[in-house]
Amino acid sequence: MVGVHGEKAAEILCPSARCERDAILLGVFDATGRLGYIRPALRIDDEFVADATKGRVPEERFRFAQPCVEDGCRNWTGERCSVIDDALELGTATESLPACSIRRACRWFTQAGPGACAVCPLIARNVRTADPVTD
Ligand code: SF4
Repeated sequence: MVGVHGEKAAEILCPSARCERDAILLGVFDATGRLGYIRPALRIDDEFVADATKGRVPEERFRFAQPCVEDGCRNWTGERCSVIDDALELGTATESLPACSIRRACRWFTQAGPGACAVCPLIARNVRTADPVTD
């Protein structure tokens, strides 16, 4: 893995993306299903992807960030990401903002502000449908 330098400020990142080379490793789920965030940001390489795919599905153990593809994603409504809107309706919250490496560029934070970060640690990607969903 390599550190991330010089991120383009204009690039909006999906915080629940696939495990693919050059994705940012956002965090690791603990035994309770809560995400522990990793700082500073790290980009994963082919070796990480190969190792991660040997065990359980990597998106069930980690969260990754990649550029938001908007209309290329089934969760895009045309204006917004429906994943974080749906998660906010569940109303689960943490007390403080996670120490996240992508906040300035995060789609969910851009869309919903600190409220998104309050529910973010509980959101896992559903790899069976390829949709990010809440637990
Ligand atoms: S919602 Fe907040 S905590 Fe989650 S990835 Fe975006 S900026 Fe980070």
